[in-house]
Amino acid sequence: MNRFFSALFLILGLGLFQPVFPFSKNQSKNDKFTVVLDAGHGGHDPGNMGNGFKEKDIALKIVLQVGAILEQDPNIKVIYTRKDDSFVDLYVRGKIANEAKADLFVSVHCNSHNSSAHGTETFVLGLHANERNFEVAKKENSVIYLEDDYEVNYAGYDINSPESFIGLTIMQEEFLDQSISLAKSIQDNFTGRLKRVDRGVKQAGFIVLHQTFMPSVLVETGFLTYKPEGSYLNSSKGKSDMATSIASAIIKYKKHVDENVGGDFSYEVEDHSLPPVSNKNTSVETAAGVTFRVQIAAGSNSIETKSYNFKGLSPISREKEGSVYRYYYGETVNYEAVKQLQQEAINKGYRSSFIVAFKSGEKVKVSSVVNSLSN
Ligand SMILES: [Zn+2]
Repeated sequence: MNRFFSALFLILGLGLFQPVFPFSKNQSKNDKFTVVLDAGHGGHDPGNMGNGFKEKDIALKIVLQVGAILEQDPNIKVIYTRKDDSFVDLYVRGKIANEAKADLFVSVHCNSHNSSAHGTETFVLGLHANERNFEVAKKENSVIYLEDDYEVNYAGYDINSPESFIGLTIMQEEFLDQSISLAKSIQDNFTGRLKRVDRGVKQAGFIVLHQTFMPSVLVETGFLTYKPEGSYLNSSKGKSDMATSIASAIIKYKKHVDENVGGDFSYEVEDHSLPPVSNKNTSVETAAGVTFRVQIAAGSNSIETKSYNFKGLSPISREKEGSVYRYYYGETVNYEAVKQLQQEAINKGYRSSFIVAFKSGEKVKVSSVVNSLSN
């Protein structure tokens, strides 16, 4: 622990390191904002059946209504992982979203517990902060045992072991702040508009979230095991209330992304684990296809990589990952040189810029590269 709190801190601490993006927002993307809606369970997996209410049916009806609302916006494209009572493997759900290059992944579920626990909670991926979060993830993850080839598709994964998840969270970490932003907005709607009991935004190791390469949340709309809540969720009013709340949070999120040209979402977690590198250590110079760049900004809009857009810095390169464009300054195989580039970027006002490393075109942790070099 924990990047979660770092990200939260970064979200709360907006304004401290306001990057300046002097461009207009008229570089419209041709592609639509794509939302993948994932109704939990289905087919021979009913999900939880608290008080006889069926999670898979409630989740599907909510999701279809969320989709119907979103589809009214011509700039939003909706993709469903299932539109009927069919069984879809967890890893396939993520694959659908990745292949669609979706901007958001939203999974909808209903909770259960052997107590009178009730209320709504929305999860982002991460290490289980406590036993209760782990239990929720374990229950949802156990679906894999109903899949035909789970040993092959989830090799080495043990749902009973929280540690099994460590090391698997890297992809979602990139999108943690965006995921938290959407999760907060969903919870706000549930509690503000609908007066549902708020269990908050939480973090746990859901396989279905681990598979996706975009901001992703898992919504637990309430406990079927708590009869008043189960009856509500099973009613058409309950489902339509939940759907409206989730849809409006997604629309708000999209609006926020559209309006904030790189704004709120350009705060990324820096790698603080860098070992000290001595100036005299010539072995720091890299071989084996490792290059360094300085990440100066990130955001949802595609900006021309002209130096005048980046306070005179040149060369600037741009790469798109998921729905986020990242902007890099410089490129060198020399770690000392990239540290100088970073200092230049900082001097120009990119105070939260940080060094990233690439190996054979893939982004790798700087600490791992520098470690291996100094050995
Ligand atoms: Zn579920």
